[in-house]
Amino acid sequence: MSHPVIQAITPFASTGTVKKDPSVLLRERLAHVRWKALEQTDKFLIQFEANIIRRGGKVLWARHGADAVSELQQLALTQQADGFRLASGPGIRELGLAEQLAKQGLRVEHDASGPCPAKTILISEAQFVLADPGAVLLERVHVAAHAPLHVVLAPVDRVLPALRDVYIATHPAHGIVPAGWTLQSGPLARQRLYIMLYDSDRSNIMAEPGVREAMRCIGCEGCDLHDPVAATSVKGNGVRFHPIKAICTPHIRTNPSFAPSFMHPLDNRAAGICPAGIDFKRMFLFNRKLAADRHAAGRPRLFYFLWKKAVTRRGVIASRGLKTLSHFTHVFFNKSTHGQRKEMRAPRKSFNRLWRERMHLN
Ligand code: SF4
Repeated sequence: MSHPVIQAITPFASTGTVKKDPSVLLRERLAHVRWKALEQTDKFLIQFEANIIRRGGKVLWARHGADAVSELQQLALTQQADGFRLASGPGIRELGLAEQLAKQGLRVEHDASGPCPAKTILISEAQFVLADPGAVLLERVHVAAHAPLHVVLAPVDRVLPALRDVYIATHPAHGIVPAGWTLQSGPLARQRLYIMLYDSDRSNIMAEPGVREAMRCIGCEGCDLHDPVAATSVKGNGVRFHPIKAICTPHIRTNPSFAPSFMHPLDNRAAGICPAGIDFKRMFLFNRKLAADRHAAGRPRLFYFLWKKAVTRRGVIASRGLKTLSHFTHVFFNKSTHGQRKEMRAPRKSFNRLWRERMHLN
């Protein structure tokens, strides 16, 4: 079977030139747009801020959930708002807004559809923000709610350089249906529009060249069906083990974990359909190597030191016996997070002892 990318290229017999499949071209274009946006995120974010302010909007910056909550509290105070109406979305869950705002004694509603009361702040999420002309891509229902106070959350990696790029990133072939989304480039009549750009460890991930590519993800959910771990987790208990999340988890400050990078297989099947051209395998391997390097200190290093000493000195094995050594290894080194390691069954006599007995040596 030929390579899928080569298969998608159709040669012109007469001239010898090649014409690429439009879907491959679209994919390459999207990967390039996202790469360009990530390489110059700082420039595009500043451009976005300047443009949206010129159009009457305001920008709030938050490093993490606590910053976001204090900014929203401050806003509620200055605008004399008496509560929040939250849309459902990954950013709102990630920042823990519902719990944190409720903890501060503020009224929180979870239905973001329908007209918004005058003293209530609507919090929704943007799919992308556009540096030029300074606009946000929002779900149409949230724009239609016509909230007098509207706060739009957007992570700092979700910036696109220009208006033309939004058509590539939201093309139906990429799984995001543009019909449900609309562009808003400033506040509506009698509205105050705030865009809250939050970081939440994304700058750490962008600063790590080995995994920066993961930030190209446009959230089309295409890989959910092709990555076996993601597919089974969605069907199972509903907790989604997304491959991009698995790649990013070791690089976040709060609760970093390498375990998900070992859970996902290295067959790279999801890379074949990813519109942003993300190479999952390379980043899983990067994380696994990082985990091995970080954990090479301490207990594993001591284990290999003792193991080497024992196996290179036959006297140690002969004097203590294989069973004792195996039990020692189990007690001190066999602890695992899942408790699945078992004690090795050591043979009664070593190979050396058996050979010596057979040869009638001492
Ligand atoms: S990583 Fe998955 S969700 Fe993200 S763009 Fe690729 S296929 Fe879509």
